[in-house]
Amino acid sequence: MEQSKSSRNTRRTSNKKSHKSKHAKQQQKIIILLVITFVFGFLAGLFVGLKRTQPVNFVMESSAETLETETNIKESSSKAAINNAELPWNLQLVNFEYALAADFEPESLADVDNGYVADSRIVEAAKKMISDARTNDNVRIIALSAYRDYEYQTELYENKVQRLQQENGYSVAKAREEAATVVAYPGTSEHQLGLALDLVDARHVKLDESQENTDAYKWLYEHCDEYGFIVRYPNGKTDITGIIYEPWHFRYVGEEAAKVIMEKGITLEEYLSDYYTE
Ligand SMILES: [Zn+2]
Repeated sequence: MEQSKSSRNTRRTSNKKSHKSKHAKQQQKIIILLVITFVFGFLAGLFVGLKRTQPVNFVMESSAETLETETNIKESSSKAAINNAELPWNLQLVNFEYALAADFEPESLADVDNGYVADSRIVEAAKKMISDARTNDNVRIIALSAYRDYEYQTELYENKVQRLQQENGYSVAKAREEAATVVAYPGTSEHQLGLALDLVDARHVKLDESQENTDAYKWLYEHCDEYGFIVRYPNGKTDITGIIYEPWHFRYVGEEAAKVIMEKGITLEEYLSDYYTE
């Protein structure tokens, strides 16, 4: 009996014990559940928080990515291995991809027209072109710009950026992008190269598309290649040149290249990638 009592006691105790440990186990379970709930709650909160900020990040990333891709496409489209170092002086390519150093200056400058100077190697041809127009066809052409140094180009560009912000309410980024299609970004202007002239009709002194209808432009379009000049930024070629249509900007490339470019109606970029890449 005693034994059974004690054994019962023992059993009871052990029962009590097992009961106790069962209770402890339940407590443990509750604690674990609480911890899990807490961790889940924390993670969920974190996720919602992330989700909230995600669209903003996403938009920023995607637009940055788009810009990058566009730049890459532009670079690869005409970068087809044009190497200015291997090109003669008259075919040097300057555009948004091929910039001149800030301290680049033509070897020698000379008066060309209307008080402007240009690379001395193109002055004779330019003067003859302007005087032939007048002598042969009574067309009066006048230069409104020729060589411009880096500092002056910077000034022109910054002025354009400011005007676009003030007059069109553009953001700085938008104004800079837009300005670069109208006024070449410093270092990317052919005027710094000394081989470009802005030529207008003396009776219509305006640097806009209306220049296209003047006698001066019609004459130049017809004859400029005979003097080694081309219409550098033709209509509909902005995708390639990065510059708007400019029926006043003439670039010296030499007679041989000028004839091909004007006859085919192509750009200097296209000419170089057709004839000067492997
Ligand atoms: Zn120009």
